[in-house]
Amino acid sequence: MKYLTEYRDGELTRKLLAEIRATVTRPWRIMEVCGGQTHSIMKSGLDQLLPPEIELVHGPGCPVCVTPVELIDRAVALASRPDVIFTSYGDMLRVPGSSRDLFSVKAAGGDVRIVYSPLDALKIARDNPDKTVVFFAIGFETTAPANAMAVLQARAQDLQNFAVLVSHVTVPPVIAGLMEEAEVQVDGFLAAGHVCAVMGYWEYPPLAEKYRVPIVVTGFEPVDLARGILKLVQLLEAGQAEVANAYERSVTLEGNRPAQAVIEQVFERCDRKWRGIGMIPMSGYRLREAFARYDAERRFPEVGQIAAEESSLCISGLVLQGRRKPFECPAFGRQCTPQTPLGATMVSSEGACAAYYRYGRHREVQAIQQD
Ligand code: SF4
Repeated sequence: MKYLTEYRDGELTRKLLAEIRATVTRPWRIMEVCGGQTHSIMKSGLDQLLPPEIELVHGPGCPVCVTPVELIDRAVALASRPDVIFTSYGDMLRVPGSSRDLFSVKAAGGDVRIVYSPLDALKIARDNPDKTVVFFAIGFETTAPANAMAVLQARAQDLQNFAVLVSHVTVPPVIAGLMEEAEVQVDGFLAAGHVCAVMGYWEYPPLAEKYRVPIVVTGFEPVDLARGILKLVQLLEAGQAEVANAYERSVTLEGNRPAQAVIEQVFERCDRKWRGIGMIPMSGYRLREAFARYDAERRFPEVGQIAAEESSLCISGLVLQGRRKPFECPAFGRQCTPQTPLGATMVSSEGACAAYYRYGRHREVQAIQQD
């Protein structure tokens, strides 16, 4: 555990926090793009230890949260078919569609199976040649290489009964999309270290320059996060809209080129709708034409027509854009809890609403509201 304990070192974190306090002179709004970072910040209490000038807002970096409701409905429709075995990571099963989730399909007798890798789904396909096995390929650039490899393996093994329901999104376009919104006021970004471990950070300098916003590649442990915030505050205070890497142990400028090549071979960029945010140009991946036979929406064209509306109660779109904190949602902790989630940001283990609920950041606020 030496490796992790170094990055959870309380003494070092306190020193970095003292440096942040000594550096900051005015208010800054900082967005951590990744839901994994949100959870780490809440769990370690960093949000409460930072000087009051620094406000952390939470971004759209949770693949479960941003999967559009119509994709959930399409997954539900596929999973309800008697000729389909639907496979997915577990946290997608509870995400509410417009009327049902995948768990309710499973409870009603649908063959919905939780897998830990797309390779598990391939094995299920090999073992069940009389069914079509659909894998729910969600995620950012982090999961895209493994999903692309699964498609390549299906082709290499000439598996005819394997398909993917693709809902891949990519980070740099959503940063650009957020910066284009007048209501979104963010002074600097903590870029998600695991995404950059795959993609590098060569896509970020043009964004930093265009939107005059510094971006710091940041890891996930308390020391990583404090280092990333310190670097970002230093850039903000110096008026430098630059990109810096505070996660050097895992990330290089160019990233993992073989992984990028696999993504490039199987997927192409496309416009993607983000749940709660809307359509962002060229912010997703779809299968290339050469792999069309592995596309579940083409194999079952009737599900590709499904459209759906969001619940009017849930403001998770505003939460994902850093425009509202979870506890500002009237349903938070009342109608909406992890046991009774109304929106994806409460369902997902990386969702901001779930993080606030789990680590009790709402209790003081609700106590004040009730006084
Ligand atoms: S608390 Fe629930 S209803 Fe409110 S924004 Fe979060 S997920 Fe949506």
